[in-house]
Amino acid sequence: MGTVTELVCVACGSAYAPDEVAYTCPKHDGLEGILDVRYDLGAAAASGFGPGALGERPVTDSLRRYRELLPVPDEQAEAYPQDWIGRTPIIDVPEVAKHLGLRALSVKDDGRLPTGSFKDRASAVGATRARLEGRAEMTCSSTGNAASSLAGVCAHTGLTAYIFVPEHAPEAKVAQLAIFGARVMLVQGTYDEAYYLCQDAAEAFGWYNRNCAVNPYLVEGKKTCGLELAEQIGDDPPDWISVSVGDGCTVAGIYKGLGEMAHFGFIESIPRLLAVQARGANPISTAWRADADDITAQDAATMADSIAVGRPRNAQKALNAVRGSGGAFVDVTDAEIMKAAYELASLGGVFGEPAGVAGIAGIARARSEGIVAGGDRVLHVVTGNGLKDAGAARRAAPAPPAIAPRLDDVRALLDQTAP
Ligand SMILES: *Cc1c(COP(=O)(O)O)cnc(C)c1O
Repeated sequence: MGTVTELVCVACGSAYAPDEVAYTCPKHDGLEGILDVRYDLGAAAASGFGPGALGERPVTDSLRRYRELLPVPDEQAEAYPQDWIGRTPIIDVPEVAKHLGLRALSVKDDGRLPTGSFKDRASAVGATRARLEGRAEMTCSSTGNAASSLAGVCAHTGLTAYIFVPEHAPEAKVAQLAIFGARVMLVQGTYDEAYYLCQDAAEAFGWYNRNCAVNPYLVEGKKTCGLELAEQIGDDPPDWISVSVGDGCTVAGIYKGLGEMAHFGFIESIPRLLAVQARGANPISTAWRADADDITAQDAATMADSIAVGRPRNAQKALNAVRGSGGAFVDVTDAEIMKAAYELASLGGVFGEPAGVAGIAGIARARSEGIVAGGDRVLHVVTGNGLKDAGAARRAAPAPPAIAPRLDDVRALLDQTAP
């Protein structure tokens, strides 16, 4: 099981045997020909994969338990890092729901993954593929989370990580790279320049490329969020699932996971996807509003660095996912993102980085635009931990007052702030 039958080009539909191509469809230039991994779902069904069988596998075995739907052959599934990455919980946040005027709101907190972001899902599957292919080195370029995640999983599994990161990435993220012992290169240029340099280096030195846009197996890791979600929401699904969008692999992966689980009867239908972009980096939602497929590149400008992508590399998959689910795109401003960060943390006890809570801001906006109704139940995926960008949190929350070390000062302050 876990048998990959073919790789299908998202742009032209050409199909390849798994060992025929390594990354993208050779019929296109650059990044047009993203490949989608297909499995023998019939064989998985014949072998008994479904709610009953999965219910008997321990949830702690968070990757291997989905082996029929992941790109590592069954007999090699031992190679998945097993304790390093685990299932994340879904948490009800009723006070936040009330605040947003919703019937119910819950969050799946992927900020609890080992390096603090959703990207650990992709890195864990990518590193396993790299090891099976006999590679000792992996590389990526990233605004931060993909890189820190790769650094973490490489440290854990004994691979060397070569990482190209734009010089202006937040300090906490660069600190993570360094502490995991990755070979980091701070590129004096844009995200795009770091990206192409990484591509060239991967080719020149034979490193396994973690970039989701070119490596079809990485999205399979992101898919595990959708697989877990389907299993967790089961017969009580929300009306909407919201998630922030940069390159577009995350929303595409969640959609694919939900779709495969629907095929096996875990859920009856796929909730609508609310895809949320930052106003200053919204090329995919702009295309969605125009009902177009063509993306116009932008100079990205948003505090939510993890979704500050002006030239998205998985736009087509993201558009397909949102359209296929009957969902919608919305855009949110940085001010709305900051407000959402404070609301989710102070009313729900869940602390997300700006890109991790942009979806909460998106729900508020979708409410005001009449896309999401007050009677709806919504689930938001928190894709990154708030400690990733402490500076943003300081700006989002009210500044605490300074006082002298005297009880009278405390009393005076309490009187001042009494309701
Ligand atoms: C990468 C990332 C996203 C967006 O994922 P894409 O695949 O680029 O759309 C959202 N939130 C966080 C925290 C991320 O690191």
